[in-house]
Amino acid sequence: MNTVDVTAVIAEMTDPYVEHQEFPDLVYPTSVTATLAAYRGTFPTAKRLVPEEDDETAALSVHSREYVDFVRDGSRRPEGATKFPLNVVALPELRVSEPRTFEGRHTQYFFDEVTRATPAVCEGALRSAAACRQGAGWLADTVAARTADPALILVPSRPPGHHALPTVGGGLCLFANAAIAARELSRSGRVAVLDIDQDHGNGTQAVFYDDPSVLTVSIHAEGWPHVAGFAEETGGSGAPHTNLNLPLPTGSGFDVYAPALETALEAIGRFEPRYLVLALGYDAHREQGFGLLRLEVEHFGVLGRRIAGLRLPTLVTTEGCYGYYESTAEAATRFFEGWAERWR
Ligand SMILES: [Zn+2]
Repeated sequence: MNTVDVTAVIAEMTDPYVEHQEFPDLVYPTSVTATLAAYRGTFPTAKRLVPEEDDETAALSVHSREYVDFVRDGSRRPEGATKFPLNVVALPELRVSEPRTFEGRHTQYFFDEVTRATPAVCEGALRSAAACRQGAGWLADTVAARTADPALILVPSRPPGHHALPTVGGGLCLFANAAIAARELSRSGRVAVLDIDQDHGNGTQAVFYDDPSVLTVSIHAEGWPHVAGFAEETGGSGAPHTNLNLPLPTGSGFDVYAPALETALEAIGRFEPRYLVLALGYDAHREQGFGLLRLEVEHFGVLGRRIAGLRLPTLVTTEGCYGYYESTAEAATRFFEGWAERWR
């Protein structure tokens, strides 16, 4: 069904499958593989671009030197060298001494108990960051050269990224993939980031909260990470009204979701961005994400159609999916078919 008038480009990592040593059920690669399969099925002539091994530029564009060094150290550790303890969240009241070991820094640099800096996870984070930055560069070049109008680039990123903050990771996210792509794109125009993962994109929000060149929009279930994601978070003093949170009540179905989606699309349209970065997760499906939202697979087709209707050059990153679900592949397929239908 390749009748789509677009040039689609895949920025594919050489190894997008990242296994999580101690919580293998939490970081299933299905979100990545299903997204890639659906994308290729919908756009069979899509080019495949393999990013070069990166220096630290991508990660350093949104994260602190200290945090990037920590993740790089993690990528070099021998597999299985360390049994990572459950993290202690390093509240100032708790800490007496500076961390002296990798395990101590592990506790210092993650805000929850489940995130792990295993070699495979750190390696995946570094590769994903590189792919997002280079994918964004390709998108900008494509737009500048007008070889495709509009263009769609998929970066199958793993581990996910939208919970990672500039100086700490968490929620299984190490580097803020969508934010890295948006930062690169913002060099040549205004950028909107739309996050449709079920959970709040708190990391992306944090990166751009005071940046008026990037609009961040998140549609999510009320809840995680509990201390951010509320409607009153509308941007810092240097960037008022450039952050839009659309939290939905627990258990919301598409009847509640659809108006929030329209609000998000209207806000993006008003911002008049040159590019869109889409943080794509499927855990708003009723089978996933503890059922906090209750979308059906066909609703992902509507999401694809409506977002494609913005007709913006778009880079997609992959978020969420912390388990194996039958619905992931079907939701991904519906999403890209919906997109293609709108661009046809
Ligand atoms: Zn999620």
